[in-house]
Amino acid sequence: MHDVILVLDSGSSSLKFAVYEITSGAAPLSRLAHGQVEGLGTHPHFTAFDAEGHEADNSLLPANSSANPHEQAMGTVLAWLQAHRDGTHRLVAAGHRVVHGGRVFASPVRINSEVLLKLDALSSLAPLHQPPALRAIRALQARLPELPQVACFDTAFHRTQPEVAQAYALPRSLSDQGIRRYGFHGLSYQYISQTLPQFLGDKAGGKVVVAHLGNGASMCGMKGQRSMATTMGFTALDGLVMGTRCGNLDPGVVLHLIEQKGLSPAEVSDLLYKRSGLLGVSGLSSDLRELLDSDAPTAQEAIELFVYRAVRELGSLVAALGGLDALVFTAGIGEHSTEIRQRICEQSQWLGIEMDQQANAQHGPRITAADSPVSVWVIPTNEESVIAEAVQQVLVLQR
Ligand code: ADP
Repeated sequence: MHDVILVLDSGSSSLKFAVYEITSGAAPLSRLAHGQVEGLGTHPHFTAFDAEGHEADNSLLPANSSANPHEQAMGTVLAWLQAHRDGTHRLVAAGHRVVHGGRVFASPVRINSEVLLKLDALSSLAPLHQPPALRAIRALQARLPELPQVACFDTAFHRTQPEVAQAYALPRSLSDQGIRRYGFHGLSYQYISQTLPQFLGDKAGGKVVVAHLGNGASMCGMKGQRSMATTMGFTALDGLVMGTRCGNLDPGVVLHLIEQKGLSPAEVSDLLYKRSGLLGVSGLSSDLRELLDSDAPTAQEAIELFVYRAVRELGSLVAALGGLDALVFTAGIGEHSTEIRQRICEQSQWLGIEMDQQANAQHGPRITAADSPVSVWVIPTNEESVIAEAVQQVLVLQR
């Protein structure tokens, strides 16, 4: 009988899961299965894959009339686990990706009623992204009340930043109330920071910028494998151009939209989170691959802006770090787009980046020439495994 950990990543319309087997000693945990329920609240669709990535299930679920589609999704995941893993595996714990840990949580934490109340309070800082994780936690609690659950935060990795990197130039009373830069994508950055020695050797502890370029996109400047500065701030809207989010924006634009254009707060939120970024500029798609394949001038303009903003933010993080030893690309765009990496690196050549085009075309891992003063890497991220490892550590689970 093997002990397994269930990893959950709950979004507004999806519940992703992965099952990790606890291994002995220092061996990395091995993933036995993963999958998701998509279309929560509309047309729920369940898919699951085995350890080799082969499809193990693919089914449409009955459209849910209940007020809590995450509960239905959790039931589906647990039923599938029971049907497929019973007899050989025993579920001993669960770990959740939770977007916001505020200033309170700088590391993963075992969930109890007190922690849950604090997480509820943090929902006001991330009203779109925090509640789905809390729904998943409660749905699991309702079904398996004895199962230990651990919350892992997207903000926690950034709590090592110096105070000045977390501050806004707002009246002190507001920063005391929590209006400050938190940063996100922390589970991804933690994974990359842990793998740096494998690629960079002694330079792993140097000045490194990691570019997490996916639908959501951000960059993190690290020193000593710890976060020193990042492009996202109070919310996940700031910084780079994203699939549908605007990134860096003069707050005066928000005032203008409300005062002069008469938009309501909900309309501004919808505009900035869901209708801006690559989608807004191109008018075509939030998906970078589709834009790269398009001849439309607006598609090319959207890509140009994406690259331009990335180059500027990279320069800003290098200034915060006081130099640069290595640059790492990760996530959907960072791991797969030769062209975007090439364009960002070409425009950042002044930093001491000399590309190896062939290595870039083959996705690395190292994509710079041997004598390039700054090395550039492609490293696939793995947020799930960070959560599974955190669960094992917090609960001191051993085989
Ligand atoms: P999320 O933030 O939702 O996890 P991902 O990390 O999966 O997003 O990244 C999605 C983005 O990656 C999309 O813009 C997609 O077009 C892009 N992408 C994926 N594969 C490629 C590819 N081969 N070339 C260019 N872009 C790609």
